[in-house]
Order: sequence, then structure tokens, then C-alpha cells
Amino acid sequence: MTKTVTVIPGDGIGPEVTDATLSVLRASGADLEYDMQVAGMEALERVNTPLPDATLDSIRRNGLSLKGPLTTPMGSGFRSINVALRKEFDLYANVRPVRTIVPGGRYEDIDLVLIRENTEGLYVGVEHYIGLEGDPRAAAESVMIVTRFGAERIVRYAFEYARANGRKKVTLAHKANILKYTQGLFLDVGREMAPEYPDIAWEDRIIDATAMALVLEPRQFDVLVMENMFGDILSDLMAGLVGGLGFAPAGNIGEDTAVFEAVHGSAPDIAEQGIANPTGLLLSACLLLEHVGQPDVGARIRAALDHVVRAGEVRTRDMGGQASTVEFSDALVRALG
Ligand code: NAD
Repeated sequence: MTKTVTVIPGDGIGPEVTDATLSVLRASGADLEYDMQVAGMEALERVNTPLPDATLDSIRRNGLSLKGPLTTPMGSGFRSINVALRKEFDLYANVRPVRTIVPGGRYEDIDLVLIRENTEGLYVGVEHYIGLEGDPRAAAESVMIVTRFGAERIVRYAFEYARANGRKKVTLAHKANILKYTQGLFLDVGREMAPEYPDIAWEDRIIDATAMALVLEPRQFDVLVMENMFGDILSDLMAGLVGGLGFAPAGNIGEDTAVFEAVHGSAPDIAEQGIANPTGLLLSACLLLEHVGQPDVGARIRAALDHVVRAGEVRTRDMGGQASTVEFSDALVRALG
């Protein structure tokens, strides 16, 4: 059945990488229809709000979105439009796969998936200053919230993801040695759930040791699951293992809605120059295809990407080449044909 996707081109390089991604999707035979919507600066200029109701309605209707990077306008009443979207649709699982695409980097054959809890932890926004002796900002306090409900659904997501994707191991990274209550609860949930998945190897590791082990020997890992802030930090570290943010896709998954996006931002320094690398958004589209039961199409696009990048003749500047965004996506379209 044809799926309709809410497409939000976004700001900065967003429209360029979205055009490139859609041209590859159209050539790939993906059974998708595209409902174009606006958000971010473009929406602010056109309809006076960075997150229009029409865009939210479209995502709600389709349950599926592919979005470019969004700049949160100053004074718009939003801390972050991306966070507002996550909250609106309760997108609790942030799925960030990293895979070697450009050969000859620091590591070869990296293929890891980080699953980050997207709604709790230190990022719930419960924070305040404490005034003391005339200084209104003598101290500050941020509260980390971990619920059994939140921990259970993200750890279960990680195990189910591992099983559905033929993965062998889940590593739960935590700091339960120091944060005995919040991180302790997260770890306990993992320990209790692991026996339900005898087909998946399971381990827990302290977060700082995990960071070092990822740099020393990343291939010992497979699927990693952790709370919000640890996941935020380590997912960027993992993107660095495969050459940076330009190659990093992400899925934000909820019970009935999923939003896929590149990890990078709107890159204002190179916007409208036609030189952005569309790989992050294209790989996000591959995750979307897997999510809607079209993994074969996703695999074809990945194969075309591997082929073009490995051949080395058509690469964008961040990959050491000279190709424009359009030349790169044209090469991908040819490789698909
Ligand atoms: P950025 O990711 O936009 O850029 C960092 C560097 O990476 C820049 O030098 C940029 O040129 C380069 N880069 C990023 N994507 C690239 C690509 N596809 N091809 C080639 N080079 C690329 O990060 P930033 O500069 O910190 O943020 C810029 C804006 O993006 C900010 O307004 C920020 O809030 C927003 N942002 C949005 C999202 C999102 O919507 N998910 C994520 C991060 C940042």
C-alpha cells in the first residue's frame, strides 16, 4: 500500500538536500507519495509561525515524516522546534545507525546502532536557579527524570530492534555506579528484560568506559541503548567514527508516528551554494523505507550510495570531491538504473 510522507524541506541546506533525496527516492521505485509542508524559518516567513498547524495535521494524518534541518527562530516561543515535534508525537526512540561509507577513514567496516531515549533524563527541562545571599543565580539545579515506563519502552525497543534487524548484541550504557536511583532504575529495567531475549547477547557498561571502548575498538559493539543525554553525546561520537555528521541519519519513533531526519543542522555557512552532501537525509529516507516495510528499496539505495562513493569519481566536497549536490544525486540515480 502506498504510504504518504509529510516532507519538510527545512532551512539552510534543507531544500537542497531534500530535492536530491526526493530525486533518488523517485528513481528507486519507492512506493511513497509526498505531502510537502513547511516548518522553521520558511514557515515563520510564510505563515507567521515556525510550526504551523497544517504541518502538524499532516504528520498526524500520515504518521510519517521526512524532515530537513530546522532553525528555531529567536523569540518564536519555542525552545526548539525539533523538541516540540518530539513532544507533540511522543517520539520516544531516537535511532541512530552509523555505518562506514567512505573507505580509508580511521576505522573500516563500522556498523553500529545507537538507540537513545528521547523524552526523559536531564532534558525534561525541569531546571531553576537558587538565589542565595543576594545573588539570584548563586546555584542552579536540573532534574534528571527516569521513569520505569520510559526506561522499559526504550530498552524493549532496543531488544526488538536488534531482533528485527538480525543484530546480535545489546549494550546498555549507564552511570548507575554514581546516579544510583535514576541510572540504577534504567539498569534494573535492562537486567529484568534481558532474559526475555535469550537470542540476543546482552551486557551493561559504565558510560565513560563505553566512550573509551567505542574509540579503541568500536566493532565490539552492535546495538547500544542509553538515556537521553548520554545518547546525545555518544551518538555524535559514533558519527565521528564514520567521518562526521554528513553521513548520519536518524529516526525519531513513537507509537504511531515516526519522523526521519539527518543529524546535521541547516549549515548556514554553505546554504544555497549547491554543495551540501545529501547522504544524511538520504540514509534517513532508507530508515523510513525500512520502517514502512520497503527494506528492499532502502537496500538498493544504500548499494547505489556505496557504489558511487567507493568509485570515488563523484563525491561532494566534504567527502574530498568536487561534485555539486545535484551531480551527486544524478550519479546515484544513474547507479540505481
Ligand atoms: P550544522 O550541522 O548545520 O553544521 C556544522 C558544520 O558541518 C558546518 O561547517 C556545515 O557546513 C557542515 N555540514 C553540515 N551538514 C552538512 C552537509 N550535509 N554537507 C556538507 N557539510 C555539512 O551545525 P550548526 O552550524 O551547529 O547548526 C546550524 C543550525 O542548524 C542552527 O540553527 C541549529 O539550531 C540547527 N540545527 C538543526 C538540527 C535539526 O533540525 N535536526 C540539528 C542541528 C542543528
